[in-house]
Amino acid sequence: TERAVVLDAWADLIAADAETLALMDSLEMGMPIAQAMEDVAVSAALLHETAELLRSLTVDAAVSAPGSLALSVAEPLGVVAAITPWNFPLNQALARISAALAMGNAVVLKPSEVAPGSALRAADLAVEAGMPAGVLNVVTGTGPVTGAALVRDPRIARIGFTGSTATGARIQMLAAEGGVPRPLAMELGGKSPHIVCESFTDIEAIAPQIAAGIFWNAGQVCSAGSRLLVHESHAERLIAAICAEAENWVIGDPLDPETTFGPLANRGQFDRLRGLLGSSAAAGTAPRIGGLEQAKGLSMPPTVYTDVAVDSPLASEELFGPVLAVTRFATMEEAAMLANAAGFGLVATVWTRDLAEGHFLARAVRAGSVTIHAAAETHADVPITLPIEPAGRSGFGADFGHAGLLAWSQRKLVQFRTGSP
Ligand code: ADP
Repeated sequence: TERAVVLDAWADLIAADAETLALMDSLEMGMPIAQAMEDVAVSAALLHETAELLRSLTVDAAVSAPGSLALSVAEPLGVVAAITPWNFPLNQALARISAALAMGNAVVLKPSEVAPGSALRAADLAVEAGMPAGVLNVVTGTGPVTGAALVRDPRIARIGFTGSTATGARIQMLAAEGGVPRPLAMELGGKSPHIVCESFTDIEAIAPQIAAGIFWNAGQVCSAGSRLLVHESHAERLIAAICAEAENWVIGDPLDPETTFGPLANRGQFDRLRGLLGSSAAAGTAPRIGGLEQAKGLSMPPTVYTDVAVDSPLASEELFGPVLAVTRFATMEEAAMLANAAGFGLVATVWTRDLAEGHFLARAVRAGSVTIHAAAETHADVPITLPIEPAGRSGFGADFGHAGLLAWSQRKLVQFRTGSP
């Protein structure tokens, strides 16, 4: 369809403009430039995949009798809103709006006031790619003023939000103030665990992946693997391997292509993290590596806390920083209980060689997506052809897959009754 062609063309323009888009994100929120470049490539791929999904979307039909045909068609909702965060400015904006645009809605996007540049530029590129002017609109401004006005406006048919759990709850209230009940979709915070079982023995080999899960973008990632739940028999070896791996991250100027670990996005984020870690220090927990005392400027080094109690804020609150909280377990039931205790439900990663254990944890852990690894891997693609739906404090509403597309449409039953031929 024409919309898929435009999405593909837009993706190509974004990929071709990678240096500028990445530089904008890096300058505005401090992401290392190499990671920002990768993020632009991932964002362009996401638009191509959305176009693919759109092309493969079918219409359900039913024929109850000769001369009677019923169709279930997906119509656009109208004008919808998207409110997005600063941690991956371009990627999070596109992830929020791609399905809505694919389904034929007009979108008003409010990117984070911290990093609105790449969204504005991407919207110009959309018009260049053939999207009619006025289909994608970007408004800039702060959350409590511009964001709240958008959410309250009853002409907005659906609201997609990606950000913190507290702001998600606030938006739900503001939306109700508009006087017209409207559907929402929210991808909020996480406290996503890596669960390393007794049956998994290739311990050193998975340290780089676990480290990357929490140190990428200085831990400012909704799906960051911020908790490590490890069987007691492997704990010491794995903690040592992760601490050794942390030394390989290159802390430095975000604009240096060699840098893999930048500062936190801004003073507000740093102070928030300092407050949360300060309260845990007061409770007598000391980090194995890193920690506040080694912070310089807004740069918080890779930090690992071990033997974190399940009720500690380190285990239960989203820190949005490069801080790994390790807790040991003895049984898979205990692992599942620890994984679910914080009440989030974004993603989970399980390392096991035991098929039955993998199946148990896949069901028992509450998350929008659970990945069971039976082998150490260095690379894994997320198949966006299938939907993910966050749970609990992590939000609600399907993203990706045909379900993610259809969420941004209105189902209408159309019946043709022409009489017997
Ligand atoms: P952070 O503080 O990490 O930026 P938020 O969840 O507060 O996380 O912000 C995510 C997005 O939500 C941003 O675009 C922000 O402007 C917006 N926002 C914040 N507060 C509100 C609000 N009261 N109403 C609407 N949008 C908001």
